[in-house]
Amino acid sequence: MKFQVGNATLELIKADITDVEADAIVNAANSSLMGGGGVDGSIHRKGGPKILEECKRIRETEWPDGLPTGKAVITSGGNLKAKHVIHTVGPVWMGGFHVEAELLKQAYRNSLKLASAKGVKTVAFPSISTGAYAYPIEEASRIAVGTVKEFLEKEDKLDKVTLVLFSDRDLKVYSETASILFG
Ligand code: ADP
Repeated sequence: MKFQVGNATLELIKADITDVEADAIVNAANSSLMGGGGVDGSIHRKGGPKILEECKRIRETEWPDGLPTGKAVITSGGNLKAKHVIHTVGPVWMGGFHVEAELLKQAYRNSLKLASAKGVKTVAFPSISTGAYAYPIEEASRIAVGTVKEFLEKEDKLDKVTLVLFSDRDLKVYSETASILFG
């Protein structure tokens, strides 16, 4: 499924994000930046030790107490097809009363801003927070699609943003949301 936003394309696909050819893929990291399960584990396994080395340096220099929720940092892509990995931390779902929506929005927006600032033209996102962090996918899809759409409407440096879903069901939920938001 594809949508045009200004000069850019927003695309929804089902894939393993570690196979996606984009200038940058986004990692749904945790604040330690030291790897974990889900997308994070796959990115480090396939990308090799270089990414973790760079994450360690970021911890030592920029974020000694860990990367706060909603912020984003960039490393190389190691052995991945993607040249860069943008690591961001989504919120853990705690019932919706703890500014989760705003933090999830920031995770997308700060990743897009960083991509744009680094001259990245194509960027791919997983469904941040909807795995181990248990964010309800219908609500998360509205934030993901809505935030990317809003960003691309205001900013013309990116050529393509791909939202990468890991199951048919997740792709269906995101596609329905996109159809409504692009009405
Ligand atoms: P979080 O901790 O932010 O919830 P997870 O990695 O647990 O992050 O899950 C986020 C989403 O990414 C889930 O929908 C999960 O199914 C999906 N996912 C897991 N592995 C991959 C992968 N290799 N490529 C794309 N999506 C993935």
